[in-house]
Formats: sequence, C-alpha cells, structure tokens
Amino acid sequence: MATLRFEPELVQAVTDAELEHARRAGDVTLLQQYHAGAEPLYKMFEQEREKAFARFHSTWFFERGWTNLFVETWNEFPELDARAPHLLVLAARLKREEGAVIGRDGVSVCLRVLPLRFANRERLLAFVRHEFLHAADMLDAHFGYQTLGEATLAETNRLADSYHALWCAYVDARLERRHLAPLMDYHAHHNVFQSQFSSPTEQRDALLTQVWNASALAHNEIISLARANSPRGTRHNGARCPLCHFPTFQWASEIAPVVADAIRADFPAWQIDDGACERCVERYAMLVPVE
Ligand SMILES: [Zn+2]
Ligand SMILES: [Zn+2]
Repeated sequence: MATLRFEPELVQAVTDAELEHARRAGDVTLLQQYHAGAEPLYKMFEQEREKAFARFHSTWFFERGWTNLFVETWNEFPELDARAPHLLVLAARLKREEGAVIGRDGVSVCLRVLPLRFANRERLLAFVRHEFLHAADMLDAHFGYQTLGEATLAETNRLADSYHALWCAYVDARLERRHLAPLMDYHAHHNVFQSQFSSPTEQRDALLTQVWNASALAHNEIISLARANSPRGTRHNGARCPLCHFPTFQWASEIAPVVADAIRADFPAWQIDDGACERCVERYAMLVPVE
C-alpha cells in the first residue's frame, strides 16, 4: 500500500460535518464520545492544544472508518498501487475542484473531495473508486494521459467537458465489469451524453456503446472522439466567443486560413468551425502580414 495522508483541513471538516449531522439527528452517543475525547484537550495550553486536537481528530477520523475506506478501495486497484507510491487526500472547496490529479512528482495521487461527500458512505466509496481508476489511467503509459492545454478558453472547456463525459463512462464501464459499484450507471451516463453531445440520437448512442464496451481506450482516442462529437457551430447571438469568451452578437462571417493559423498559434485546439467574434478576428488579422 502506498503511503496515505489526509490533509488536516479535510479531517477537521469531516469531523465538524459529522458532529453537526449528529446534533441534528439527535445522535447523543456520538456527541458524547466526541466530547469525552475533546474535553481534556481544552485544559491544555494554547500551543499544545492545537496539535493535540489535530491528533485527536485524525484518530477520530480513523476510528470512524474513513481511513479504511480509502485503504480498502485503493487495494481494489493493484495496478494503481504498483504505480503510485503516495496518496494525499485533500478537501475540495468547490465541486469543480473535486477529483484525482497526479502530483508534481509525476507518480503521487492527490484526491480532492468535498467534505459533504462523507455524509453518504456508499456514494463516497463509489466516488473514490471512480477517481482511483481515473488516477490509474493517468499513470498508465498505455493510456498516455496529457493534461488538456489550460491556457485556451471556451473551446478547451467544451472539449474538456466532452472528454470528461467519455472518460468517466469508460471508467464506470470497467468498474461494472469488475463487479464494483460505479459512480454512475449506464443510464446516468446516457443522460450525460444527451446533454453533452448534440449529435443525432443514433450517433450519440453508438458513441456511448463504443466507449462502454471498449476494453482499452487511450487518451488520444478519447480526445479524437471528443473532438468528433463536440458540439460545434453554436454561433447564435449571445453565445460566447471561444477566444475572448465574451457574449457575442457579431460573429465573423469569414475567417481567412492565414488568420485561422494565427489564432491556432494561441489556441491550438481551436478550429475554423468554432467561429470567433468579429473583434477577435480583426485583431488576429492585424497580426498577419499583408501580402
Ligand atoms: Zn470521472
Ligand atoms: Zn472574441
């Protein structure tokens, strides 16, 4: 097993949330248990008290079975254990911060979780498991994971959302095949695909079937699928320009190939079909030498 660390802020937040929940549910036993442990610490000197509370909370966290939940789930993925020497679990503040990423050393897993998730053990377990398989993919040389260029704006966001929808389905399908509860079942993914991909129903269903049944998919293949199925041509009034991200009422009617090349120098994922507002296109046209 990799070394496992929990950020003290997460431990604190989970403990607070559990106590709050116990208070509301009238779970006196849990509250008494906590206070029996916490009471003596209040008598300590200030400098000592903080450390003692951190220790007490991490013991509490362990005794509540949270550490084991992560250890046992981790052990479901020998391929992950073989690749990652460390796991750090941190508190996410926002939903979009949640999920697994690979640390700066290129091998450690950092998992951000909303403390709220701990209110439902089953759902938390499914979430952690799903994220661990994402992490295992990221560390798999055959998968060939690369972060999507974060400098680019709307186009990358759209592509990233499509990519994510596909990858998550691929993750959950494999969990089901291993007889592990997925984060979302086929049906739920079907709904996600419906809102993410604007392609005709048949094509969308075929896409999900393809991803759901794939025995091996690589990062690049998922990107290609995302690109081929990403909604394009959403150039209605008030839609955001993929370059400057401002709501646009004047889309450029034509973008010359040389200008498109200049745009792509800044936005590698951008394609002519994505369109751009007139102002952006004028700005890039000025960068292009006049022949
Ligand atoms: Zn996912
Ligand atoms: Zn623009």
